[in-house]
Amino acid sequence: MAIKLHPSIDKGVRAGAKKFKGGTLTCKCASDPVTVSIKGNVAHNHACGCTKCWKPPGAVFSVVAVVSKDNLSVTGNGNKLAVVDASATIQRHACSGCGVHMYGRIENTAHPFYGLDFVHVELSKEKGWNKPEFAAFVSSIIEAGAARPKDMKKVRDRLKKLRLPPYDALSPVLMDAIATHVAKAKGTLKT
Ligand SMILES: [Zn+2]
Ligand SMILES: [Zn+2]
Repeated sequence: MAIKLHPSIDKGVRAGAKKFKGGTLTCKCASDPVTVSIKGNVAHNHACGCTKCWKPPGAVFSVVAVVSKDNLSVTGNGNKLAVVDASATIQRHACSGCGVHMYGRIENTAHPFYGLDFVHVELSKEKGWNKPEFAAFVSSIIEAGAARPKDMKKVRDRLKKLRLPPYDALSPVLMDAIATHVAKAKGTLKT
């Protein structure tokens, strides 16, 4: 039996829909749930093994994507949201009732990813969100207590089979984007 990584990828990864209009994320509270509306589709969807992203109980990875912060709005019970760790780069706004992270925002205007919010599309009933494309911070699942070192080959093999190339940082495209931003800020890279 294949090793289980996250309920939304364990049965295979389904492609997103073209012209997808967006949807609503709903927290897990039985009453007065927090809702967050997203206009349009997400980008850079991926499995993440870091210790900070929210994941459902039993999952080894989170599945997280980005959306422009201008396309995200809290539409219900926003009074229940609280920032998990104010010192973190990504300010993760979690429901104080159920603990689900509804969105993560970067407030540092100098950060390469400023303007993007991090979201978990599994919180939405709509189908058509862009699919996960890679796995980030894979080695961190050991630190998170979600895997033993001896399981890592199995985990990486499974990710490859799901066509989610495993990386121990972000994907090369995103790492290059960060380095480019930093190099331009420093003046190392002109134009
Ligand atoms: Zn909740
Ligand atoms: Zn993460």
